[in-house]
Amino acid sequence: MTIIPNSIEGRDIAYQMHPNVNLRKYEKTGGVVIESGDGIYVFDNNGKRYIEGLAGLWSVAVGFGEKRLVEVARAQMEKLPYYHTFAYKTHGPSIELAEMLIQMAPVPMSKVHFTSSGSEANDLACKMVWYRSNALGNKDKKKIIGRIKGYHGVTIASGSITGLPRNHESFDLPLDRMVHTSCPSYVHFGQENESEAEFTARMLKDLEDLILKEGPETIAAFWGEPVMGAGGVLVPPDGYWEGVQKILKKYDILLVVDEVICGFGRTGNMFACQTYGIEPDVLVLSKQISSSYMPLSAILMNDSFYQPIADESDRIGVFGHGFTASGHPVATAVGLENLKIIQERDLVGNAARLEEQFLSRLSELAKHPVAHSSRGVGLLGALEINPFADGKVGDAALAVAAALEKEGVIARAVGEAICFCPPLIITAEQIDEMFDALQRALDAVA
Ligand code: PLP
Repeated sequence: MTIIPNSIEGRDIAYQMHPNVNLRKYEKTGGVVIESGDGIYVFDNNGKRYIEGLAGLWSVAVGFGEKRLVEVARAQMEKLPYYHTFAYKTHGPSIELAEMLIQMAPVPMSKVHFTSSGSEANDLACKMVWYRSNALGNKDKKKIIGRIKGYHGVTIASGSITGLPRNHESFDLPLDRMVHTSCPSYVHFGQENESEAEFTARMLKDLEDLILKEGPETIAAFWGEPVMGAGGVLVPPDGYWEGVQKILKKYDILLVVDEVICGFGRTGNMFACQTYGIEPDVLVLSKQISSSYMPLSAILMNDSFYQPIADESDRIGVFGHGFTASGHPVATAVGLENLKIIQERDLVGNAARLEEQFLSRLSELAKHPVAHSSRGVGLLGALEINPFADGKVGDAALAVAAALEKEGVIARAVGEAICFCPPLIITAEQIDEMFDALQRALDAVA
């Protein structure tokens, strides 16, 4: 496609450096200009309509164009467009949202601290873990265990906990304090003739071996997404989380659960901690917390995590951390209204009710000659594509994603998988519309 220099696409190439792309390739191809959104659909500048099969970036739970959020943002902008939460000041929207999150939390939590992105939240949770170890006099208990294919963001600490080479290479990551254990994806790492139960046992042994090798007294926390999202929608095998928690308790290691994708209904429960029986010390939330209408994230911590941090701030005189936008009043007001909508419209129930249809359509499509297998939970799923015999890893999934986009559905290719995470407002008919398009895309690639 020829790009006219003065067109919007041309000016985009001329002036904007995009995240997460091959920059040289982008200079040649440019991107699709998305202009507006309505419900589960977005529209490009040529008027083409797409189902947003990934809810933007796994985040727009209530769909695009939700007027209640627009109205709350406008009203808050007029009343108090900005204020901070530093230096003994606070404001209503941040207080109300913090209270609501404590009431909703899947396990008893004591305090909420607001940030603006998932990366910032994980980064700060990591700093808090270190601060707490210092407060308790455990100066050597600082290592963090992440997992291969785990994704927790891109800042220096969160990017180091992330277990994806593409986020490390040439950035001089990960930091030395971060170590990674095996990825519990049976479909990718199960060995020949190994049952799923045997695989789980091996994953747990890998974790315990790593702890013993590093020295349990040096390890502060384990970090994990209940279902790995950006790593390719990797659903944990039965018994995995139960086993992980037993090991962490045995060695006095904190559990930080990253529900940036899973939180607020995605797995058919309000939190994936409920789906998998996980009891975190720290819970990291973002994305669906505000349906990403405003940048917002939150760290929830239990009392035994919070108290030593509070004591240390008393000793030093300050908890020396905070952002200009921590608890931003417009973001927290929008978050609060968004969570009210999720509750009032029972979007969590919608995800639970549609799970069977969503997953069975995917597993039907997995029988297509181009496809290998499917997986998922709630309204989060992936179709694994057979690699091209003569291509690089990921070529086949990229080809399917491109064909799907032509059919009017945006989804995400990760490795050899096509990932789906539609807005929670999706209906049964729209799930069929999305997967009918996938069927045509698979036919086109075959
Ligand atoms: N944690 C998880 C599980 C994520 O999926 C993401 C983003 O996709 C992040 C953290 C980072 O969030 P952000 O992109 O807002 O920094």
